[in-house]
Amino acid sequence: MIGRALVIGGGIAGIQAALDIANSGFEVVLVEQEPSIGGHMAQLSETFPTLDCSQCIMTPRTVEVGHHDNIRLYTYSQVEAVSHDERSGNFRVRIRRQATYVNWDLCTGCGVCQEKCPFKVESLFERGIGTRKVIYTLSPQAVPNKPVIDAENCRYLQSKWDIEAGRVPAVDKKGNPAQPKCGACAKFCPTESIDWEAQDEIIEEEVGAVILATGYDLFPMARLPEYGAGRLPDVIDGLAFERLLAASGPTAGKVLRPSDGKTPLEVVFVQCSGSRDPERGVPYCSKICCLYTAKQAILYKHRVPQGQAYVFYIDVRAGGKGYEEFVNRAQEEDGVVYLRGKVSKIFRQEDKLIVKGADTLSNRTVEIAADLVVLATAIVPRAGNRQVAEMFGLAPDENDFYTADNEELDPLNSRAAGVFLAGAALGPKDIPETVAQASGAAAKVLMLFQAQKNRTPQAELAAVPGD
Ligand SMILES: Cc1cc2nc3c(=O)[nH]c(=O)nc-3n(C[C@H](O)[C@H](O)[C@H](O)COP(=O)(O)OP(=O)(O)OC[C@H]3O[C@@H](n4cnc5c(N)ncnc54)[C@H](O)[C@@H]3O)c2cc1C
Ligand code: SF4
Ligand code: SF4
Repeated sequence: MIGRALVIGGGIAGIQAALDIANSGFEVVLVEQEPSIGGHMAQLSETFPTLDCSQCIMTPRTVEVGHHDNIRLYTYSQVEAVSHDERSGNFRVRIRRQATYVNWDLCTGCGVCQEKCPFKVESLFERGIGTRKVIYTLSPQAVPNKPVIDAENCRYLQSKWDIEAGRVPAVDKKGNPAQPKCGACAKFCPTESIDWEAQDEIIEEEVGAVILATGYDLFPMARLPEYGAGRLPDVIDGLAFERLLAASGPTAGKVLRPSDGKTPLEVVFVQCSGSRDPERGVPYCSKICCLYTAKQAILYKHRVPQGQAYVFYIDVRAGGKGYEEFVNRAQEEDGVVYLRGKVSKIFRQEDKLIVKGADTLSNRTVEIAADLVVLATAIVPRAGNRQVAEMFGLAPDENDFYTADNEELDPLNSRAAGVFLAGAALGPKDIPETVAQASGAAAKVLMLFQAQKNRTPQAELAAVPGD
């Protein structure tokens, strides 16, 4: 067996697992589908319960991954095929690296291309409340800090392909050969890194063990019609609010409502939006929303001391070290008003959002005219998790989270030999639990590699069935 591991997913789980294995002297192939690593932690402002800056505590790790001699990092990439050799225990994996249209060997990451690109599109990283250029990096601290061109929205690539496919006339009005439009990035790039002929690359790797760390997503607001179905601009989800709070976000950390840029003075947070609701959402508890809602309400009060924050909750689940105290702090020190009950409806009335709900402690209905509503939408698995699991011959659970062979006593081992699991891809969890699991999965891989190393050739022969 080869002493090299594949880690799929470069969020904090994949980063931690990769570093633990690499720092023990084994090679790691880390595959991330986005242009840079960090996952959702890169979107967060500050982390509960310590209120550390998320980027600041993660950056030393992302930088270490970027420079580590034992880590081969493939970003903008996905594993598209896997074969397993049962005899050796090795996996052969085919990785597709999407064309970036930027030669990263030449690019210095100076950012001139992003400055000069005249076109902006909605940014998924900013959860739709901010924009990015067509040539972009996810954040200023991105690792790798090299841009990619979003081909679908790039004027040059689209007009080049239109000309090549004969969808537009091959000559212009003056009879000259038609030329692709824009090209500003290529014109201003000091290192001539823009590569219009780039193609997807296929890379083959052989590894002895695999860690699946593909993380989570949020339940789509479009599936919550009573909360505006994602169509009310000032009803946003928790990650969008993180971007409003983040210094690197679209408002540079100022809490401004998306519709008109005004400071919201009444903010309502709605916990369990889609969680614990088998009919309209998912049946399970998303586990981290109680804590991140308390964090967001505290941070809102720090940014807008004259504002009022309300939290609707079913019950508060704060089962971690210092967590109960943190929620109490939100109420006692920061004056956040907690209302036990469900929100039944949110709708717009002039420039306010009317939030109708029940307070089951006082047995009365409540109506708040809010400026901004933040839905703590359910944590759900990534759309691609099932596909990834199936490539390794695994079946995810009924909610599409990865599932362990023995959930009680061996929660990081999948049913497939040599395939381990870590992070929020197994189910909702906070960063400390994610990192602990990642180190656990890395330890499993190291045990496997060490056991292989310790085998004498004699023992190895004996272990090969049928030989
Ligand atoms: C609003 C909000 C606030 C939060 N605040 C806190 C907080 O203050 N403190 C705290 O402890 N926790 C917080 N969390 C939880 C925290 O985000 C998670 O614990 C953490 O991000 C989980 O890390 P992960 O690596 O498992 O998953 P992710 O962060 O989701 O990373 C997974 C990575 O895998 C990549 N990937 C997915 N599929 C593939 C594929 N097929 N191929 C290649 N790459 C793939 C993704 O692009 C991503 O980079 C918060 C969560 C939310 C929603
Ligand atoms: S201008 Fe050129 S060198 Fe600078 S970041 Fe863009 S592609 Fe890279
Ligand atoms: S060609 Fe124009 S639109 Fe395309 S990335 Fe470069 S500057 Fe942006």
